[in-house]
Amino acid sequence: MADFRSDTVTQPSVAMKQRMLNAALGDDVFNDDPTTLELQHYAADMLGFEAALFAPSGTQTNLIAMMSHCQRGDEAIVGQQWHTYKWEGGGMAVLGSIQPQPLELQSDGTLALSDIAAAIKPDDPHFARTRLIVIENSVGGKVLPLGYMRDVAALAKDKGLACHIDGARLMNAAVALAPQHNLTPQKMARELCKGYDSVSLCLSKGLGCPVGSLLLGSHAFIARAKRVRKMLGGGMRQTGMLAAAGLYALENNINRLADDHANCRRLADGLTHLAQQLPALQGKLTALPVQTNILFTDVELQLAEKLLPYLAERGIKLTGSNYQSVNGSIKRLRWVCHLDISREDVDQALQHISAFAAEVN
Ligand SMILES: *Cc1c(COP(=O)(O)O)cnc(C)c1O
Repeated sequence: MADFRSDTVTQPSVAMKQRMLNAALGDDVFNDDPTTLELQHYAADMLGFEAALFAPSGTQTNLIAMMSHCQRGDEAIVGQQWHTYKWEGGGMAVLGSIQPQPLELQSDGTLALSDIAAAIKPDDPHFARTRLIVIENSVGGKVLPLGYMRDVAALAKDKGLACHIDGARLMNAAVALAPQHNLTPQKMARELCKGYDSVSLCLSKGLGCPVGSLLLGSHAFIARAKRVRKMLGGGMRQTGMLAAAGLYALENNINRLADDHANCRRLADGLTHLAQQLPALQGKLTALPVQTNILFTDVELQLAEKLLPYLAERGIKLTGSNYQSVNGSIKRLRWVCHLDISREDVDQALQHISAFAAEVN
């Protein structure tokens, strides 16, 4: 069994469950759940914000952030492929009456600064009021560098806009960038957040919690966010059980993301090797570059439609989406590495693909 569909599939470890079982509990809507308060303080301290707020999902922390920064009729600049724009059911428009202004991504996952600047509307009654820039890091497994993050924050400040990081996988970006800046991943994450008004962080992905996300910002921002969270139905009660998992994750599961990145590179290198060696795969399977824990592979559609069920029968799950390239119909497979995927799981997947290639030949 190896579930590569997402890092959301991770199961809480025994140690994490123990921490959950022993958590001191109160009522978080009354602001007196001690473990949730501890988690919020811990995260705010780590990332350099005044305050934090625990919520059920990253979709909700993003929506809370956008609704706390923007009023009805305001506009948020987003990427075409951003989660906040494409993968959250249009929540900002439906529930927040916020107009998204999507921009095309560059191949490195960034939005060009000149595109952002050009999208900012003048103060004119014809236009929505541009109010917020949203940045996603990591994005589709790609890491936006520190210099770029700083430039966007500076642009937002210069134009009087708020800026928010959708940092669902911020820690993956921090782990990837930390060595070149000679920082710990925790300090790296803090640097990435500098100059931003808010950040949303998923605990339920690579960090290994069953549920939960955090929103971080100033005291005043989190006070507004708390009202929005209540309005959206995200005010929960004895959340200490979930917050305890979050504390365990922030204390124990950040540095180990490097293992997921190494496993993901191993998978990419292995697949590239197989695609060179095995006639059945030659020219039909391409592994895209890996920066963190997500690998995309482009597989010729007919081959992919045999490969996926072959792997599924052997307990290997992954997702894929079809697209049309100049070379024909392609399925882009997504492999996500996480704390429930071991190096052995990666090697076993490679062995299965090797056996598959021998069989289809
Ligand atoms: C997963 C994810 C979210 C939020 O996901 P939930 O499943 O709602 O917790 C937000 N942004 C990005 C980039 C994500 O990958």
